[in-house]
Amino acid sequence: MKPSDLTDDLRPFFFKDGKYLDPLIISVTGHRDIWPDAEILLMDSLSDFLTDFFKKESKKRPQRPIVFLNGMATGADQLVATVVNELREEYEQEFITLIAVFPMPEEDYVQDFSVPETQREFEDALDCMDAKIALPLTKNNQELRNRGEKIHRTEQYVLLAEFLANSCNNLIALWDGQNYDNPKPGSTADVIVRYLNPSDDNSFVSLQEAIEPYSNLERCILSNHLKGSLITLYTPRDSFLKQPVLLYPAGKTTCVTFSKSTQQTIFKKMDKIENKMWNWYKEGLHFQCAGCGGCCTGAPGYVWLTDEEEKQIADFLNISLEEFEKTYTRMVYGLRRSLKEIPQSNYDCVFFNSETRQCSIYDVRPAQCRTWPFWDSLLKSKKDWDEACKSCPGCNQGPLIPFEEIEIRRKKISV
Ligand code: SF4
Ligand code: SF4
Repeated sequence: MKPSDLTDDLRPFFFKDGKYLDPLIISVTGHRDIWPDAEILLMDSLSDFLTDFFKKESKKRPQRPIVFLNGMATGADQLVATVVNELREEYEQEFITLIAVFPMPEEDYVQDFSVPETQREFEDALDCMDAKIALPLTKNNQELRNRGEKIHRTEQYVLLAEFLANSCNNLIALWDGQNYDNPKPGSTADVIVRYLNPSDDNSFVSLQEAIEPYSNLERCILSNHLKGSLITLYTPRDSFLKQPVLLYPAGKTTCVTFSKSTQQTIFKKMDKIENKMWNWYKEGLHFQCAGCGGCCTGAPGYVWLTDEEEKQIADFLNISLEEFEKTYTRMVYGLRRSLKEIPQSNYDCVFFNSETRQCSIYDVRPAQCRTWPFWDSLLKSKKDWDEACKSCPGCNQGPLIPFEEIEIRRKKISV
């Protein structure tokens, strides 16, 4: 992409009739390796948050364009792109714009997505974008390239971190709150640190130099220093379950907006919550299923399936995996499969036998069903547990289930 094309591509999002539109610019950053069980909950949280945010913004300044800058990496970036793209269909197209920012020239960056699955996801996310910017190689990398040597990719990710942090009013971060004090160059924490500490040192100068070949427009974006909020959604990573200490439940209310001065207080608070959260049932809880079938019917919801569970149920039913998926499951957000429900019959699970009020695949029912009612969402406080008890006559009845047993079930799947 030549600089002149770049300007022409981007100009309509920032200027109208020669006037700068002063859009609200939101950069996006986050982990590549999101814990898969948290993805749907994150999408829901983000969607709720952004809906509210768009409403408030459009009241404050109607018709102010909102521009998202997105690095397009696997995981968080692509998840946010999908959510924003879905949401903006509810708004006027020109009101919300998505711009892909590649950390390096496109022909170099696509090498990050050489596996067919990640390549497809990258292309899908790119389809949501209105325009793209490819950051140029740093001087050092340009020299390496001229000598025919391999470029240092981390240097380019640092350039992207600096670009995202310095180019926006607000930053959305899908982050686990770790490594703030010692961020890896170019990581999510690095973007956050740079955002909260706008640099006036060499890194910003070198960034400006790096952008020099480009037009005034990019520098105009870069000068956008009026900082608004850092919006973090607590995002557990894939290594989450391997960590010795379980942090927060996936998808826990996570939209925390905070300024630099209050962030340390929030972290401390979060630590306290973490320590307290799973303690209230230390003595165990009573539970014995009364067989009413209530948890297989009622309000609409999801029964998540793993690939393994899908195979097991298909074998149990003696049908192919393809037929099973087509007949009994639905894809949610293009990411995960859930069992179908029957809306005409009080949203019964497709495998609920309403005459016997029993599960027709009981022996191979998914982990989500096996672990009820010991779910994150129901155990995160006594209040949530008491609420669950209202709809499940088995709760607080029968034998005492020890804490250790509850924890094994709770950690099997995050619901
Ligand atoms: S709602 Fe409770 S008591 Fe009824 S079937 Fe489900 S687990 Fe058992
Ligand atoms: S799979 Fe069985 S246990 Fe699970 S919700 Fe459906 S009917 Fe109930």
